[in-house]
Amino acid sequence: MPKQNNSAVLVINSGSSSVKFTLLKIMDEKILAKGIVERIGLERTKITYTSWHEKKRIQSVSVASVRDAVSMIIEYLVHEKFGVIENIGAVSAIGHRVVHGGEKICKPVIIDPNVKNIIQEYSRLAPLHNPHNLEGIEACESIFSDIPQVAVFDTAFHSTLPEHAYLYGLPYAMYKDHGIRRYGFHGTSHQFVARETAAYIGRPIGELKMITCHLGNGSSITAVKNGRSIDTSMGFTPLEGTVMGTRCGSIDPAIVVHMLTHLNMRPEEIDHLLNRKSGFLGVAGINSSDARDVLNAMKNDNTQAAAAIQMYAYQVRKYIGAYTAALNGVDAIVFTAGVGENSPEIRAMVCSGDDGLDNLGIVLDPERNMAAPFTTLEIQSDKSRVKILVIPTDEAQEIARQTHALI
Ligand code: ADP
Repeated sequence: MPKQNNSAVLVINSGSSSVKFTLLKIMDEKILAKGIVERIGLERTKITYTSWHEKKRIQSVSVASVRDAVSMIIEYLVHEKFGVIENIGAVSAIGHRVVHGGEKICKPVIIDPNVKNIIQEYSRLAPLHNPHNLEGIEACESIFSDIPQVAVFDTAFHSTLPEHAYLYGLPYAMYKDHGIRRYGFHGTSHQFVARETAAYIGRPIGELKMITCHLGNGSSITAVKNGRSIDTSMGFTPLEGTVMGTRCGSIDPAIVVHMLTHLNMRPEEIDHLLNRKSGFLGVAGINSSDARDVLNAMKNDNTQAAAAIQMYAYQVRKYIGAYTAALNGVDAIVFTAGVGENSPEIRAMVCSGDDGLDNLGIVLDPERNMAAPFTTLEIQSDKSRVKILVIPTDEAQEIARQTHALI
């Protein structure tokens, strides 16, 4: 197979025990190869690798660190048989997903020691992500000595939130001295689908009002006005907003105080309960946080599972209502991510459940809603004033685009 010998962007998303990668051609954003190294430093470590000329290959590997994982990824990319590039010289830039840039970084940046310090500084607000993102950056720095490395932040797209949307009703010093405010997450995904929506509708993004619903394991809803995020459901951390796979979403903060003082729970126990034991997993009680399992249980008359799905759909609907008001009308509602792209049932419950949303001009077409979303799907009825779209998200492509634009 012919191999690419220049101008590819490598996108790296380094997590606590996995490194995801995508290699794209700069010219046409074609994906050359992608995959994931999982269970780094544990037993049964494996790499899953797909390239444009080969089907999926899954292999057990021995990988003890993120650096080893990046070396392994490169071995695959340049492999004589199934590689897609001649050598690592074909990679002209690396784009890294970084979760938290706080208020200090509001756009993609070339990584230098100062940027690394800021990523480190915000580790206190994103302890599960930023330290691992940094590890990925340092692994790449040690392997690729002199190509630009760019950090693209999940929080950056939400840096345009106005003060009235990002402040909490706490003493102002909590914001000023401790940085406690809404930051918002999934920004790269919201930005990607917002752009795709404008391209699909064929109008400048600067003229459009939309509500982007990223419904996955973690879910967030964003109000996008003229291409800028003006409000979003996740907050200081990705715990706020709708109920999610294992996260509780927004709750009365006094519940936490009650758990501390009356239930004698320790802070780390509460943190674990809110982030890992709640959401679908906690409410449905079927020992799964996977929306498919919860939907199946609901179909088999499990009332707790039905309650979990109904509260999820209801909460998404409430955000759509709130953001329709915040935007003073909306041109498009966009569904994306695992649940948003693949679950017509949940989309239908969001848009048509109870009395529907027709008084807001939002009317789903039940038949169009059932089509499989290989690409953008338009699912509103002819009566709907508002477009309802399903758009597969692609954070790697967005990171590659922003990396390329910067270099
Ligand atoms: P993450 O937030 O981890 O990136 P994804 O966007 O991949 O997650 O979404 C994962 C979620 O999508 C899981 O809860 C999974 O059950 C759900 N999902 C995937 N396919 C379907 C489907 N056909 N119907 C309902 N839910 C689905």
